[in-house]
Amino acid sequence: MDDRVPGGIAVIPIGDMTRPEVYLEQQRVLVVGSPGRWHAVAGIGLDVTPGEISLQVGKPGAARRIPLKVLPRDYPTQHIQIQDQRKVEPLPGDLQRIELETARMAAVKAHWTELEDPALDLRQPVAGEISGNFGLRRIYNGQPRQPHGGMDIVAPKGTTVTAAAAGRVALVGDFFFNGITVIIDHGQQLVTMYCHLDRVQVKPGEALVAGTPIGAVGQTGRATGPHLHWGAYLNGAAVNPALLLGATSR
Ligand SMILES: [Zn+2]
Repeated sequence: MDDRVPGGIAVIPIGDMTRPEVYLEQQRVLVVGSPGRWHAVAGIGLDVTPGEISLQVGKPGAARRIPLKVLPRDYPTQHIQIQDQRKVEPLPGDLQRIELETARMAAVKAHWTELEDPALDLRQPVAGEISGNFGLRRIYNGQPRQPHGGMDIVAPKGTTVTAAAAGRVALVGDFFFNGITVIIDHGQQLVTMYCHLDRVQVKPGEALVAGTPIGAVGQTGRATGPHLHWGAYLNGAAVNPALLLGATSR
């Protein structure tokens, strides 16, 4: 799981006897383990500049720092042709909608839910070929856009999508770029997101076990064909979901 690059995850041992509070920038970081053997599991944002950063352990103001070296990662470039130019160059009215939607999703991704032992062992929500890996630098119709913050899995329209781990439905919505979307809160700011769905069969607030059907693969939002965009977030940062697949068995 440990891959200390932008978009990666740092797993840092902390020997305190009581459960430590850990922060990266202003965001609280997930901690698992037991007295004397804690591990902070910190997401490193794709926008983090490689070099030395630090985790803060303890209450803000009285924290000690644990340095952490972030290595560079060269993600490949992917060119995508989109029929609907408005999904590449949104109209002024769209921009306002996009701004509101981005803020709404960011708030959910940055929400701290207390939970002692979140499942870090995710299961892939749908079987299929990976058509777009995490981190790709994306060029839409010749124009550079945000890097790819998730994993694209190709599956026929209507294929059942399941929850990657136990959690609670934090948000259901229909968004300009992401299409019909479900966000699941797994506790301690581990969050997964499922986009471009054709339909959704869960409601906000609903508690799910790992593998609960949540909806079906579709092509809503900015998508060139039916696929699931699957995102994972730690302390508000998009991380490579592949790093969390079967994590406990590594
Ligand atoms: Zn995607």
